[in-house]
Amino acid sequence: PSGGRLIVVANRLPVTCSKDAAGKWKLQISAGGLVSALMGVNNYSTLWIGWPGIYVKPGRDRDALAAMLKREGYLPVWLESGLLDLYYNGFCNSVLWQLFHYVPLQLDGWQRLGEHQTLQMQWGAYQQANDRFGEVVLHCYQPGDMVWVQDYHLMLLPSILKNAVPRIKVGWFLHTPFPSSEIYRTLPVREEVLRATLRADLIGFHTYDYARHFISSCTRILGLEGTPEGVEDNGSVARVAAFPIGIDPERFAQALETQEVQMNIAKLLNRYAGRKVMLGVDRLDMIKGIPQKLLAFEKFLHEHPEWRDKVLLVQIAVPSRTDVPEYQKLRSMVHEIVGRINGAFGTLTYVPIHHLDRQLSFHELCALYAVTDVALITSLRDGMNLVSYEYVACQADNAGVLVLSEFAGAAQSLGAGSILVNPWNINDVAAAIEDALTMSEEERRERHRQNFMHVATHTAQTWADTFISELNDTHIEADLRL
Ligand code: UDP
Repeated sequence: PSGGRLIVVANRLPVTCSKDAAGKWKLQISAGGLVSALMGVNNYSTLWIGWPGIYVKPGRDRDALAAMLKREGYLPVWLESGLLDLYYNGFCNSVLWQLFHYVPLQLDGWQRLGEHQTLQMQWGAYQQANDRFGEVVLHCYQPGDMVWVQDYHLMLLPSILKNAVPRIKVGWFLHTPFPSSEIYRTLPVREEVLRATLRADLIGFHTYDYARHFISSCTRILGLEGTPEGVEDNGSVARVAAFPIGIDPERFAQALETQEVQMNIAKLLNRYAGRKVMLGVDRLDMIKGIPQKLLAFEKFLHEHPEWRDKVLLVQIAVPSRTDVPEYQKLRSMVHEIVGRINGAFGTLTYVPIHHLDRQLSFHELCALYAVTDVALITSLRDGMNLVSYEYVACQADNAGVLVLSEFAGAAQSLGAGSILVNPWNINDVAAAIEDALTMSEEERRERHRQNFMHVATHTAQTWADTFISELNDTHIEADLRL
């Protein structure tokens, strides 16, 4: 390490800002994956830059909040609501996020809530928002600092930073899939976005496939030379590699020891006694393949009357983007299928699908992870899917079976220990459900052992450490070449 600081730039600061009854600001820090990953990074003091989740007008109130955030190492980027809507809901989530999950661009994706947003306006806002993040980084930057930019929200930031400070060390990591170049090339501003991101010294993805897609997009769209190591543009090389993220398995192991989780476990075991339980935990999002999962369970119950009354599916569907019509439609569709299945296969004492439209507390979730026999993950596209890792982390006693979509990044790392499925093949998923429910204990334990080994050794912390040390090395190499 060079002794500099690590500056992490993400769309959102890992904190919720609100006011107490006396009108004084208070902060609630959220313990997400990225936060715990970076807490474990030694050798660097870390600064976070991101949108604080609210807009406060310039003035004393804003200064008070900024000072409080600064004490925690957080620097806010202020985005007023019009800009935020076009940048975040518009370009980030209606354009990039969709495309990166293989949802083709749609004209009506640009016409939300009655206001017409043109791609031109959204793109303008994306550039402007990226500039705002850049200003905050450059304002606090000191020579020797390393900047780690997160995700699709900030793909222009590497170029903004390099233009201002050519020797700045910049890494960029994408938390979603990067699609095939055949999909990516439909983006009207495909060249601008790629060129800007390529200015980073190190570019990271969850899987080797995503890295390959990125490199071939650079080759096909920009005509640049791609090698397995990276992409060369005008004599500067962006190193491109896979850094699969992980979780903090200790956090789950410790939670399972707490009295609160133990009490939850006891309650659930009592409630589910005599039946096998399958678990789904997903944001209610098209990419999670929830309807596909339900149809497969329906088919399974239809074909296996002997299992009726003996197996149930607990599906947690965490609300997501509830103001967007497509998500409202998905919710109705899911409710309709759940109702149909419960109506057809339920009895006076048995309901096959226990469906919740809400988020669980961390302790409730851990208990569910621990007591269930099968996890059903049927994502149609998913950058990694951390739920699969969390399930494995909590199954040390039970050795439950993971049924995992081959379209989740996690299939690359947990594939050998899981039953892999194509979620679009309902027959295949229904057969996987049967295999999972009837698997011998010996095979379950062996598969779980493999998965557990992976989860325990490929943690969020090793992910962050590897990325940061590689960013440091990449830059040293570049310096030597100068
Ligand atoms: N999660 C949660 N509460 C819930 C359900 C899920 O906090 O009630 C968390 C879960 O622990 C996991 C995250 O939400 O860390 C989901 O991450 P994943 O990578 O599986 O999917 P994403 O939602 O990021 O697409």
